[in-house]
Amino acid sequence: MSALVFVEQDEGLVRKLSLEAVSYASHLDGDTHVVVFGSLGDGQMDLIGKAGAKKVHHVTEEKFAQVDLMAYSSAIAELMTKTGASVLVMAKSSLGDPISARVSVKIGAALVSNISELPENTDGFQVKRSIYTGKALAITEIKGEKSVLTIRKNAVEIKEDGQPAAIEEFSPTVNEGDFKVNITSREKTTGEVLLPEAEIVVSGGRGLKGPENWGMIEELARSLGAATGCSKPVSDMDWRPHREHVGQTGIKVSPSLYVAIGISGAIQHLAGVNSSKYILVINKDADAPFFKAADYGVVGDAFQIVPKLTEAVNAQKG
Ligand SMILES: Cc1cc2nc3c(=O)[nH]c(=O)nc-3n(C[C@H](O)[C@H](O)[C@H](O)COP(=O)(O)OP(=O)(O)OC[C@H]3O[C@@H](n4cnc5c(N)ncnc54)[C@H](O)[C@@H]3O)c2cc1C
Repeated sequence: MSALVFVEQDEGLVRKLSLEAVSYASHLDGDTHVVVFGSLGDGQMDLIGKAGAKKVHHVTEEKFAQVDLMAYSSAIAELMTKTGASVLVMAKSSLGDPISARVSVKIGAALVSNISELPENTDGFQVKRSIYTGKALAITEIKGEKSVLTIRKNAVEIKEDGQPAAIEEFSPTVNEGDFKVNITSREKTTGEVLLPEAEIVVSGGRGLKGPENWGMIEELARSLGAATGCSKPVSDMDWRPHREHVGQTGIKVSPSLYVAIGISGAIQHLAGVNSSKYILVINKDADAPFFKAADYGVVGDAFQIVPKLTEAVNAQKG
């Protein structure tokens, strides 16, 4: 039983969450095929091989250079047939969600989303997915021959010991009618790191007392190359914009590191951050509930600790 992985890229760089999907697939029985659209930067194919891919099907035709959900879905469905793969794996993302749904309909496959752990049996027919905002795991048995799986960010360690993958050009026989959109230009509205995609998030809560104190949060975020977030009351009081509100009723984030400063750790806030790889909590109250969910904790006054932390990060960077 081989698997095909749809790998996302951004300006020639393979996305980390796609390398996690490749590593997930390489734990299943059978060969791991990968499909990637558009040209990649130097060394990027090596990363895909190291993550566990055996063969990369590279779509280089210009018309696929920009993302088109319908065309990509048709091409992936075609490649599922060509490779004989029975499992399609991709990251759970703003691209993975609509493509997984479309391809599963096209190929008549079971769709299981938000997979949060490697399967115990490597034939991949029983998978674990995160439900109830991360509070529970659903052990899901897949019926039928084909399946489409989306993998939650940080669910899998990226392998680095794979062999170089064979690379083969793939020209999908996609209908011109499958191309439904034309992106005429891409303009970034902000130079900031976007919260839902960020690898590091520095978030502040009501403990920061007022909007005038956010300078130190932004400075730490800048030093770490992080996005800024906040708790709900902070955005409700207009200390920060609503797009930064993290939690059950806000943005759900899955960074490698979530830094929570002056946030108590209410269950509704934790629901938005509990798939972070590591959580660092800074709070002056040693009994703040957030410490129970933390990997690292500092008990103390944020106003003293945060500037020192920024200084230390800057010193480390040289
Ligand atoms: C239906 C519903 C949905 C909700 N959805 C969300 C959501 O999506 N996201 C969300 O965040 N909340 C949500 N909430 C609100 C949630 O229950 C909490 O009220 C909120 O998360 C608390 O925000 P906070 O931690 O910033 O403030 P507080 O609870 O006031 O905590 C402030 C913390 O700062 C610490 N502190 C104070 N001074 C300092 C200092 N100098 N240095 C260090 N630490 C200090 C305190 O010890 C305390 O732990 C929701 C609530 C409901 C009812």
